[in-house]
Amino acid sequence: MREHADKLRREGKTLVLVPTMGYFHNGHISLIRKGRSSGDELIVSVFVNPSQFGPEDDYEKYPRDLHRDLDLAEKEKVDCIFAPERKEIYSETFQTYVSLEKLPNHLCGLSRPSHFRGVATVISKLFNIVRPHIAIFGQKDYQQLLIIRRMVMDLNFNIKIVDVPTVRERDGLAMSSRNTYLTPQQRNSARSLYQSLKIAQELVKGETRDADKIISVTKKSILKYPETLIDYITICDPDTLERVETIDGPTLMALAVHVGETRLIDNMILKP
Ligand code: AMP
Repeated sequence: MREHADKLRREGKTLVLVPTMGYFHNGHISLIRKGRSSGDELIVSVFVNPSQFGPEDDYEKYPRDLHRDLDLAEKEKVDCIFAPERKEIYSETFQTYVSLEKLPNHLCGLSRPSHFRGVATVISKLFNIVRPHIAIFGQKDYQQLLIIRRMVMDLNFNIKIVDVPTVRERDGLAMSSRNTYLTPQQRNSARSLYQSLKIAQELVKGETRDADKIISVTKKSILKYPETLIDYITICDPDTLERVETIDGPTLMALAVHVGETRLIDNMILKP
């Protein structure tokens, strides 16, 4: 991969990287299309990164289908799929990690303590292997996007980070490889995440400014659905992820909800 990327760079090509864990859905395809129109050579990595899964997480059962991904990538005119083996990325003697001081201490980082260390580490490695000019990430993983942007600045990666809006199902559910785990009843309950963001948006438009009030209304709306268990609902500063009490500018609302065994996330910027 490195030799191939070096050669393309010497030829003056603009390299674009779309990092993924595979099992493509339309969210990935949206990133791939953005990538296709952003440079000359489009590289998509497919790697289910073990270091971002906690011991209780779904690393083993995470859905994988490289043949299907290759077919979809070909249709989207992807130039190169980089799908390394686990042992190529993490040798037996591997011991170096990238971790951030502040941004992981919020939202998903609280219930998944080593998750963002795993993400920052694997993305650093992919950046060092491919050395793309541009890399594309989804707004669906908002905290991840902030962390990657911060890491790129802090560690002087010479890479432009481009983000893409969340792609949703018709009923608003954010697309995710994990949606495939849901039973029909759980799939119905999964609508509650986006619905609660819309309720919050309406409340903010209707002059409600108190974050606790919005959180309590949306909590109730989610718990009405069977098999839902709230991990967090947070209203916070979109740059620092620090909680806010009163909404008086663009503010991030982010949530994680277990639907049955499956943990789903979503977010929206609330604008008064
Ligand atoms: P994943 O394979 O889940 O690690 O996701 C790979 C990339 O796709 C990440 O940058 C995600 O933020 C992005 N992504 C995942 N789901 C969506 C979605 N529904 N809409 C937009 N981007 C997404």
